[in-house]
Amino acid sequence: VHDYVIVGAGSAGCVLADRLTEDPGVSVLLLEAGPSDRNPKIRIPAAFSQLFQTAVDWSLRTAPQSQLDGREVYFPLGRTLGGSSSINAMMVLRGHPVDQDSWPVGWSFAEVERYYARSAAGPFPLADARDRNPLTAAFVESAVAAGLMRRDDLNGLETEGVGLVPVSQRRGRRFSVADGYLRGARRRPNLTVVTGAHAMRLQLSDSRVEGVEYRLGGSTELARAERETIVCAGAVGSPALLLRSGIGPAGELAAAGVVTTHDLPGVGKGLRDHLASGLIAHTVAGVATLARAESLGSLARWLVAGRGPLTSNVAEAAAFVRTREDLVAPDLELIFAPVPFEEEGLVKPTRDGVTIAAILLQPRSEGEVRLRSADPLATPVVDPQYLSDPDGHDAAVLLHGLRLARRILEREPLAGFIASEALPGADAQTDDALMSHLRARSQTLYHPVGTCRMGTDELAVVDPELRVRGLDAIRVVDASVFPALPRGHTNWPTVMVAERAADLIRARR
Ligand SMILES: Cc1cc2nc3c(=O)[nH]c(=O)nc-3n(C[C@H](O)[C@H](O)[C@H](O)COP(=O)(O)OP(=O)(O)OC[C@H]3O[C@@H](n4cnc5c(N)ncnc54)[C@H](O)[C@@H]3O)c2cc1C
Repeated sequence: VHDYVIVGAGSAGCVLADRLTEDPGVSVLLLEAGPSDRNPKIRIPAAFSQLFQTAVDWSLRTAPQSQLDGREVYFPLGRTLGGSSSINAMMVLRGHPVDQDSWPVGWSFAEVERYYARSAAGPFPLADARDRNPLTAAFVESAVAAGLMRRDDLNGLETEGVGLVPVSQRRGRRFSVADGYLRGARRRPNLTVVTGAHAMRLQLSDSRVEGVEYRLGGSTELARAERETIVCAGAVGSPALLLRSGIGPAGELAAAGVVTTHDLPGVGKGLRDHLASGLIAHTVAGVATLARAESLGSLARWLVAGRGPLTSNVAEAAAFVRTREDLVAPDLELIFAPVPFEEEGLVKPTRDGVTIAAILLQPRSEGEVRLRSADPLATPVVDPQYLSDPDGHDAAVLLHGLRLARRILEREPLAGFIASEALPGADAQTDDALMSHLRARSQTLYHPVGTCRMGTDELAVVDPELRVRGLDAIRVVDASVFPALPRGHTNWPTVMVAERAADLIRARR
């Protein structure tokens, strides 16, 4: 028996495992379904998409998306120590202070600022990329020429403008949340980490959660928590575990063949994600893009000195834009990558080129995570329902972004490096033509949130202290509790949530 059982060693789980075991009198068991994070490619920043569809990726696909030509969009999620922070693009962009406005009491920007500071001061350092591709500076200059503001710090109190992206790296290598928090904590005798442990169901006794049943190798084990079970399985894994345990909308659970233990209608609902649509252009001869990063020479340089193109996190610069003057904060992001990012990152680029992706920061479309079956080892259905908002707001923002990306591409100095637009192609000028591109090729930016939303209303899953409403000794702490998508990326906000959760849990004792 441990004091705390944590399910999922992702961004949030690693933070909690570390913070809770700072007290030597507290014992913690951390269960992770995936393997350890020893795969050497995890360390190589430019190789992050080569981790796709390997043993450290859940390799999901969405349900067919009716507004995206019925496509089942590839949906990677980390499945190893560090979770998604071990396969992500390492961009550290927390969003805008107004993102906290829709969060419950205790979570205002003024209140969470110190958790951002506490993480950045030690285990979650923000680094400058070491060796950016020269085209990235050209992108920033061209964006300024196209009318965007230059912004040196994209994590400041204002974010509008264009700038270089800070990264989760040390000496040119990925520095995941497992590196920052878990590595040191694992030396403590009061922390036990078990990999290959797939949580199947929570164990309930009346309204108290006693622990979790998990699969390890061929056998089923029970982990008992004296104080609390903390679910950190991510925005897909956490609602799935609750639903499999009978915690969720009673009608839907019955239809999936699961006995309801606690009727909680919001579990799995309210899924929001960042949709991205890329514009790809070929570069003129003689320009070295990251398409050539993979060579013995660059590998040697990276191994010996932690320098060179393999240190690139690919997404080297970003811009935050308000598509309408009356907005208080950006609703559109552009990301620049000095490489063609094609086919959802599943193919290696064969030609030199660049990508400018438009990202819909504040989608109105809302989807859900639901059970495929009662089988505790089956992956759930992820259905973001991209671009499903009835008034077409979401598509309009992305169209705005594609046109802006094109205007930047046509400005010097970047224009001087560009041979031709490859996708959607220069002849795609009308809204209809750009819409076809959106439907055929948009992809996730991998930021699902909201499926175990915090709040005090009927559809809230956890209360503002992240305790599952109506049950005892159980919390959810990860990206699933976000009440809204940040106007930025989700890793640092997840770390912030877990840092504050650690204080809430410690204060209770
Ligand atoms: C490819 C990719 C690129 C990204 N790029 C960026 C970026 O550049 N910047 C940024 O800010 N964000 C990025 N993100 C998003 C960011 O990494 C995530 O939002 C963040 O890591 C979420 O943390 P989490 O703790 O909620 O979940 P995760 O980190 O996903 O952790 C969940 C953990 O729980 C485990 N788990 C799930 N189910 C079970 C179970 N039943 N039993 C046991 N364990 C289980 C999983 O294996 C995983 O380790 C990216 C994500 C991906 C996938």
